[in-house]
Amino acid sequence: MPAIAVDLYSDTQTRPTAAMRRAIADAEVGDEQRGEDPTVNRLQERVAELLGKEAALFLPSGTMCNEIALKVHTRPGDEVVADRTAHVINYEAGAPGLISGVMFSAVDGERGVFTAEHAAAAIRAGSRYDPPTRLLWVENTSNLGGGTVWPLEIVTQVCAVARGRGIATHLDGARLLNAVVASGVSAAAFAAPFDSAWIDFTKGLGAPVGACLAGSRAFIEEAWRYKQALGGAMRQAGIIAAAGLYALDYHVQRLADDHVNARRLAEGLAVLPGIDIDPATIETNLVFFDVAQTGMDAQQWVARLGEHGVRMGAMGPARVRAVTHLDVDAAGIEQALAAARAVLAPAPTGG
Ligand SMILES: *Cc1c(COP(=O)(O)O)cnc(C)c1O
Repeated sequence: MPAIAVDLYSDTQTRPTAAMRRAIADAEVGDEQRGEDPTVNRLQERVAELLGKEAALFLPSGTMCNEIALKVHTRPGDEVVADRTAHVINYEAGAPGLISGVMFSAVDGERGVFTAEHAAAAIRAGSRYDPPTRLLWVENTSNLGGGTVWPLEIVTQVCAVARGRGIATHLDGARLLNAVVASGVSAAAFAAPFDSAWIDFTKGLGAPVGACLAGSRAFIEEAWRYKQALGGAMRQAGIIAAAGLYALDYHVQRLADDHVNARRLAEGLAVLPGIDIDPATIETNLVFFDVAQTGMDAQQWVARLGEHGVRMGAMGPARVRAVTHLDVDAAGIEQALAAARAVLAPAPTGG
């Protein structure tokens, strides 16, 4: 099998650039656990400001942001309302049950986006038989929904329903900055209706490690306790926080390039026989499509594409995901499309 030349498996596949590595090498550091790492402190202040919150907490991963937020907002036995496709339900190894003892009321939204009506119907009345609904959860952009951007109006309405019923709200913003760049809505505006929100540095931003959770000062104080309890407190973490600061300076606006590349990939795939995709649904950097009519399943498709040096991910029996990011340029997209055409070309009839 040839080396992978175009890696569309995930936006987590990026390697730190030379300039980012210089920022890492030059980072001023201290003991993060004691609040004495100046680079981590700067990053936390920067993210708190970006998301319009009082305080922020640097953590090793987005998963830890989600799990600590769940732990702070809920008690065992509580119920959380989230879209059925949510990362926290599908990809966090059962941690909500393991760590917080919560259950989910999974909502059937449209491409990962649900409405105020969905939210109102999912929040329990509060009888003694009911699991207490404690938290409402939004993922923006929606990953399994296909990189969907939540319209600000819907976000506001959904959170207003929660607030009206005394329910806390959390924003999984692993790709919030993709939503910001695609929509022109600021990160602070998207985060405003939420009690807690976070961004990931290791997705489109291209940093090697880390995510940052934001909320009120009291929320972050409590989050610190669970960071310590879960072993997430670090030492000279300025080494990795420097990459996050660099990414906020240099890798946000360029997300627009990833969105253009994703749209181009979708348009190129849409004209191929047996590939089912509507390019008009591609809003950000995630490209999902269906290969059922190609005669291959998703695993076979991914394996055949790999033989041509292009990597995508099988996300279901016939569902494939390709993700654009800063290590794939427009030429890489053309290369991926050429590989897709080669995989679908009728086998030469010997003669
Ligand atoms: C990747 C992702 C996470 C988890 O982030 P990690 O930094 O990989 O732990 C959470 N939510 C969504 C929507 C994601 O895409």
